[in-house]
Amino acid sequence: MNSSPKNQAPSHASFNTKVIKQMRILIVDDARDNRVMLRAVLRKEGYRNVDIAGSAAEAYRRLGLEGSPGQPKADYDLILLDIMMPEENGIDACRKIKSHESTRDIPIVMVSAQTDVMWLSLAFESGAIDYLTKPVNRMEMLARVGAVLRLKYEMDMRKAREEELLRVKAELEEANMELARLSILDGLTGIPNRRRFDEFLEMECRRARRNNLPLSLILIDVDHFKLYNDFYGHLKGDECLQRMARALSEVVHRPGDLVARYGGEEFAAILSETDAEGAMTIAGKFQETVDGLGLPHEQSRVASVVTVSQGITTCTRPEAMKPATLIQYADRALYQAKQNGRNQFQFLPCP
Ligand code: GH3
Ligand code: MG
Ligand code: MG
Repeated sequence: MNSSPKNQAPSHASFNTKVIKQMRILIVDDARDNRVMLRAVLRKEGYRNVDIAGSAAEAYRRLGLEGSPGQPKADYDLILLDIMMPEENGIDACRKIKSHESTRDIPIVMVSAQTDVMWLSLAFESGAIDYLTKPVNRMEMLARVGAVLRLKYEMDMRKAREEELLRVKAELEEANMELARLSILDGLTGIPNRRRFDEFLEMECRRARRNNLPLSLILIDVDHFKLYNDFYGHLKGDECLQRMARALSEVVHRPGDLVARYGGEEFAAILSETDAEGAMTIAGKFQETVDGLGLPHEQSRVASVVTVSQGITTCTRPEAMKPATLIQYADRALYQAKQNGRNQFQFLPCP
């Protein structure tokens, strides 16, 4: 039950007045004549949703502040609250309403007889926004009720806009994160792409240089992949690359290691803090892993299944630690592996 104008957009000039007349008002007064009279004045002025309560306790129930399972909670936009009431006075009631998260934002206008004007400072301290003195002057009441409801309306609109902004901001952040993630992953295989490889190699070269650590690079090229595509078709070729990417990625585990798709049917592994011996161990595991996939390759000149050739290099001298140098020597080693009959790895150290 929410008649607040949240999430509604004004369509014409009289919109505000119309919406404001729909807002919910609660009159709390222990004197029946008073509350009925105030309601009658407001209704006559066109306010459609005016409720009355004879005590603070009844007001709490209407506001959903005190357990009364049968009664649905009403979302009020304004409370006219009598100060002097026999059981619980308006000041305490105001304090209580203002202390609850769910009712804190409902504006409260205190209604007081001239004699308890001194209570008003207490009322403002406890969170009231305005006051009316009894006997209530009709014009004065309508002016204040109108002003407070317009303010409440603006506040609701602002809150809705702020919530919308926060939602859009969160969506944007999520989209940006997804974009950042996608921009470093290869579309076909889902493993890091060439761009990520370049960044990572540059970063690891700098780190190895600074800390005087070895760095190894392996280039992995599928043997006779053109023949594979020609025979099994491009889609099967893609599937083969996907399976290989997954399998190769699973071989390495250290945070300084990266397996990426380097080019068409070429993969690359950056192995930080890894010497020649370690790099050759990993290359051996790559070879075994690809063998283990057992992907038939009828046209291959070297085996009955898909195989790879690998070129390994290791750089140990900080002065030589450059991405281009590592790539150059790994590439030369790969060429040797191809020349030497494929389905093998060759090692060439960075000078
Ligand atoms: P080698 O043993 O000397 O490496 O021979 P190769 O046939 O593997 O080498 P080549 O460089 O002649 O051919 C590579 C082939 O890889 C050609 C191309 O059709 C295929 N290829 C490259 N990228 C993709 C891809 O994204 N999907 C598929 N299906 N094939 C690709
Ligand atoms: Mg190639
Ligand atoms: Mg190839």
